[in-house]
Amino acid sequence: MSTKSISSILIVNRGEIACRIIDSCQREGIHTIAVYSDADASARHVRMADEAHRLGPAETAASYLNQEALLALIDTISPDAVHPGYGFLSENASFVKQLEQRPLTFIGPSSKVIHAMGDKIEAKKIANAAGAPLVPGMLCDGTEEDVQKRIKAFADKEGLPLIIKAAAGGGGRGMRKVHALDGLNESVAAAKREAKAFFDNDAVFVEKLIEGARHVEVQIIGDTHGNVIVLGDRDCSLQRFHQKVVEEAPAPFLRERTRETLHSAAISLGKEVSYVGAGTVEFLVDAEERCYFLEVNSRLQVEHPVTECIFGIDIVALQIAVARGEKLTDLLPDTQTPNGHAIEVRLCAEKPQDNFIAATGTLARLDIPAQSSEGLTIRVDTGVVTGDRITHYYDSMIAKCIVHGPSREAARQGLLQVLSKSLIAGVETNIGFLQSLLRLPAFIEGSHTIHTIDTDPAYVIDTLRSAALAALTDSVAYADTSGAPAQFEIADLRCERCYRCTIDGTEVSLQIRHDGRNQWICSDGHQQLSLQLHAGDANSLHCTLEHQELELRYLRCDDALWISGPFGALKVLPYYPALKSSTAAAKKHSGSISSPLPGKVLTVHVSEGDTVDAGTVLITIESMKMEHTIKAEAPGVVQQVLVNAETILESNKVLAIVDYDKN
Ligand code: ADP
Repeated sequence: MSTKSISSILIVNRGEIACRIIDSCQREGIHTIAVYSDADASARHVRMADEAHRLGPAETAASYLNQEALLALIDTISPDAVHPGYGFLSENASFVKQLEQRPLTFIGPSSKVIHAMGDKIEAKKIANAAGAPLVPGMLCDGTEEDVQKRIKAFADKEGLPLIIKAAAGGGGRGMRKVHALDGLNESVAAAKREAKAFFDNDAVFVEKLIEGARHVEVQIIGDTHGNVIVLGDRDCSLQRFHQKVVEEAPAPFLRERTRETLHSAAISLGKEVSYVGAGTVEFLVDAEERCYFLEVNSRLQVEHPVTECIFGIDIVALQIAVARGEKLTDLLPDTQTPNGHAIEVRLCAEKPQDNFIAATGTLARLDIPAQSSEGLTIRVDTGVVTGDRITHYYDSMIAKCIVHGPSREAARQGLLQVLSKSLIAGVETNIGFLQSLLRLPAFIEGSHTIHTIDTDPAYVIDTLRSAALAALTDSVAYADTSGAPAQFEIADLRCERCYRCTIDGTEVSLQIRHDGRNQWICSDGHQQLSLQLHAGDANSLHCTLEHQELELRYLRCDDALWISGPFGALKVLPYYPALKSSTAAAKKHSGSISSPLPGKVLTVHVSEGDTVDAGTVLITIESMKMEHTIKAEAPGVVQQVLVNAETILESNKVLAIVDYDKN
């Protein structure tokens, strides 16, 4: 069998996935070539690669999406192959077409297949031809009147709710739920506008919204000899804003008959398009285990490590092998038998308590313990290390933490352990949120669905517990630097002391008193709890909080104290009463609206002189590939708009002035 030689690979991506691909290449003895933007000049993927080339400034349009710069580089350095990773240009058919005209191998399917799969309407047609079960749906083409009439007829037949989706959508964007038929025209028009703005394609379609469903996907891989095989399935139902947060393999709590239906639909679909490379066929599975095809992702998936863990395979190495022209039948046994269970969480720079708004900053510490133990394999995939900056230019994922164990419960417990022992300082993360998701009874018993994060109050910060731990850590940290005993210990045994601070943006105040039995009683005026310190040093402490023994890790950097443990993570700041009241006064006086985070303005929804109500959307901004809407706080009149669509924003940049007093 003659195969192509691949001895150098250009990786047109960044971050954890570029590092992940380099790992496999190094194992295979392949020369790796990285690309970088100015923001990434010293990034981990650049340091790991054998060779690296600058693409342009930090903005993705000028760097990782800059096809002209990439093609010029490819023509200069002539790599044997190009690996696109996921995101960026990985599913861009016209880019892949340009590569196909060059003497190199693209590690992925053909531009024709990518084009067909990138259009959800086209993909549904192919899935239908392959016999895959579809979500009932209809196209929104034709006149406004005609579309409205047809959607009404569709709703009569299928029932509400519906979901309007962009044909070219991706990353959870461009979807709108329809719970009532009033305002339908406006919903379709707005969906079309959004689709045009995001994907440069205004085609939208309507689907029945499948309620109470799980997201189950099938990993496939095809070779150039017509073989398409399945590498098991994954459940990715825990999603926020339609984006996955927790993923696991194999998909648990699924009848074998359902699994077979999904696997055989995925294989038929792959064969229908002569799929080459790794791909994922996504489905929704409802409570009765009816299956509905969603879409195909024609690239490596973020969550591929859970599949690698349970089959003991390297999907990137397989991608390279099939790109060389090797036969899958020579690479893998006929049937794949999963071993144990793997769970992955996406650790992101964001503030769950603030509607998951993106967080940026320098990682003063990134320490995720990855020591595997008896029966448990721990894997951390990341593109950053301590000292690196998390910027608003790219997505907010800091690391993927993956645990593989003999059972689902062992993997879940192992992952909880890893998260509780991790210390991340300098940038706020969703680590506490992830821990609460892994502890959700619905997740443990497997009754979770794609709606669980929206409906289950998984993440409730217990302010009294948090404040008690903050006070204790603060006093241990103080004692460590000053050489004095912990402040709690020098407190007069008979008198109370007050502790005030800001935890994750919320002010807390606490009364602490010693009960005379080596125990402190902390009270917020409503409730109280007991706290005992056993040991503490410059990095960690051991205490008992309400009869629960806890090991905490912490780091003081600048003003902030970053604490982590089995309860999640806390960012504790000193209480600054004077500063707070002066900023509050300034805000009320000027009515200025500032950007809560750095990013780029997508749309300005108002003009000077417009009257607004509390909650009117003023400006939509994009940061870390997520949209955030900035709303008016109260009724008023827009005095000034200080930004345009495309304006690049620093954090706290004033966007507009609204005179709240005029109404
Ligand atoms: P994207 O390409 O943006 O990721 P998908 O079509 O893969 O979009 O859907 C992403 C998620 O959106 C799904 O996992 C599911 O949670 C939700 N979703 C999409 N279509 C439907 C539907 N018809 N009913 C219910 N939820 C849906």
